[in-house]
Amino acid sequence: MPELPEVETVRRCIAPRIVGRRAQKAVVRDSRLRCPIPSRLPGEIAGGVFTEVRRRGKYLLADFCRGEKEHTLIVHLGMSGALFFSGRPPRERHEHFGVLLEGGEWLIYKDPRRFGCILSAAGDGCAHPLICNIGAEPLTAKFNGAFLRDALRGRKTAVKNALMNGGIVAGVGNIYASESLFAAGIRPQTVAGKLNAEKCATLAKAVKHTLRRALRAGGSTMRDFSGADGEQGMFQMEWKVYGRAGMPCLDCGAVVRVLRLGGRASYFCPRCQPAQR
Ligand SMILES: [Zn+2]
Repeated sequence: MPELPEVETVRRCIAPRIVGRRAQKAVVRDSRLRCPIPSRLPGEIAGGVFTEVRRRGKYLLADFCRGEKEHTLIVHLGMSGALFFSGRPPRERHEHFGVLLEGGEWLIYKDPRRFGCILSAAGDGCAHPLICNIGAEPLTAKFNGAFLRDALRGRKTAVKNALMNGGIVAGVGNIYASESLFAAGIRPQTVAGKLNAEKCATLAKAVKHTLRRALRAGGSTMRDFSGADGEQGMFQMEWKVYGRAGMPCLDCGAVVRVLRLGGRASYFCPRCQPAQR
């Protein structure tokens, strides 16, 4: 599932190619997604000029203006969603939606597993109910040790589940929670509320560092994900524990273990991530 680095990679790729351009029309070819694509959406987009592409958590917000009015096209890639450019309209299997840009190029949304969503909002997209409760953006100054300490205080859940809680931290899923906890030397099942100020500071730094490294690599390529330019991310080559159960830890040689937390496979090195007393 695409997480913050993958969604941000898509944002960086599509933003320069759509901002300032007018949408001539939009077509819904197959509305069946996690929430169906609203039938009014093409009418709202047609004639709009894209002004900015933002990201909140795992959501892309493509702002556009129609006359004086501001709107936002909201896109979530779900498990397998992809945005790409093409010289032809959406017509292949799993191609749900397309926007024809001035100049003749199409921006197409494809989603074989259909867990994504495409919506629009009048006014500021950040006020939309799906977006307004998203937690802190981990790459901003607001997200630091003190923030994490406050957010985790009293929580009895495993720290990995807390990191993956989108209401606390935006855009961190299974891969980057696992890798960040490895980088911080914290075991995933540690009770979140038990982390002291020092550990919280270490963890906040590790989350930022891990996400920045992934961004530099263009995100991680998963079975279902590729960037909007068709480029593959390379960060999967740098995974230290994620998906490596039974293999030696790349830092110390101990065998990487896996356990289930919140229904998700959680990988850790028993030596680099010692049990918290
Ligand atoms: Zn290790």
